[in-house]
Amino acid sequence: MQFSKFGDKFNRYTGITQLMDDLNEGLRTPGAIMLGGGNPAAIPSMLDYFTELSADMLAKGELLAAITNYDGPQGKDAFLNALAKLLNDTYGWSLTKNNISLTNGSQSSFFSLFNLFAGTTAEGQKRKILLPLAPEYIGYSDAGLEDELFRTFKPEITKLDGSLFKYHIDFERLKVDADISAICVSRPTNPTGNVLTDEEVDKLDKLARAHGIPLILDCAYGSPFPNILFEDVTPFWNDNTVLCMSLSKLGLPGLRCGIVIANEAITQALTNINGIISLAPGSMGPAMATEMIARGDMLRLGNEVVRPFYLQRAQQTVAMLQQALPDPRFRIHKPEGAIFLWLWFEGLPISAMELYRRLKARGVLVVPGEYFFFGLAEEWPHAGECIRMNYVQQPELMRRGIEIIAEEVNKAWAQL
Ligand code: PLP
Repeated sequence: MQFSKFGDKFNRYTGITQLMDDLNEGLRTPGAIMLGGGNPAAIPSMLDYFTELSADMLAKGELLAAITNYDGPQGKDAFLNALAKLLNDTYGWSLTKNNISLTNGSQSSFFSLFNLFAGTTAEGQKRKILLPLAPEYIGYSDAGLEDELFRTFKPEITKLDGSLFKYHIDFERLKVDADISAICVSRPTNPTGNVLTDEEVDKLDKLARAHGIPLILDCAYGSPFPNILFEDVTPFWNDNTVLCMSLSKLGLPGLRCGIVIANEAITQALTNINGIISLAPGSMGPAMATEMIARGDMLRLGNEVVRPFYLQRAQQTVAMLQQALPDPRFRIHKPEGAIFLWLWFEGLPISAMELYRRLKARGVLVVPGEYFFFGLAEEWPHAGECIRMNYVQQPELMRRGIEIIAEEVNKAWAQL
């Protein structure tokens, strides 16, 4: 059996596949402490809400109507219209349904967007996506039909009080070369929980416009929903911005519904890609989301339930970490949003990958830092000093997992 180039590339066992495997394996392993994957928390009141919503929609025949029909390749019309109106009313934007297309999860949105903009052009030029701040979302790294699709820049690091630190875009070093075809950044950032300031987004917007390329903002965790943001920042969109959202982190990852807000040309391109790749995006997510908007719940639930839940968990977990590992070489990225904490063990004498293996052997799953620094011009030792953990497990499990992390890190440091 011989695979094509596409087959060889997409048949690789990548970081993202390992992550999803760990997630699945952990779910089946009793006693495993799952701090690795990005599954959103099972927030009881959200589960109750989804139970009631789906029962009601089932009773009214709306769910059956959704699953027994194809939507168009752009996605469910009723949802496109309802979302455009919601965002226009809330933020004063001027969207029509021609600015919105749906996908089967924002992971699929990025596959389409990255390959739409980057790779080899008809004239034979190789074009890339600029990621202005490493570390960046692991799920981007292998999404290109061609290899080496990304150019990434190291951040500036500010050490903060209380064993915290924060990354900033290093605008002095950031360079948009002629082969860059789009800028992309997650806001809040997976893995770090960093949130670009309004000023940083504004600068990126200007930079993108000056080079005639789009700015892709991945707001899978951010505003407008689920709004897992602990900083006061402004939602951002204009016709040079591609705003990517998802229903996943609101608590509905199984619905696989991604949303892309962009100018009409990009929306049309994504619609055409959908037609070829999947005929139409799934219709269950948009049907439920339309009903959530009609009930006035879409933004409300993010603000009143989801965001406070994660904020409380983040603060609780930071306190547990600070108590378990009171060592000046240990710092936590300031949690500004998303559902992860990013831990930095300065001068760790083993790689983060080795730490991951040792922790996995003890039943604690995290994600080693090395995966998140793809596209850098040179290796950066800092990558091997960091791990990502989520903080959505029950507090008792979090405490046990953190104890084990602290023991293994202290053991490694003691070998120095
Ligand atoms: N973007 C970021 C930053 C993510 O963390 C994730 C998932 O974890 C995604 C996009 C993809 O999410 P989904 O495909 O479930 O919408």
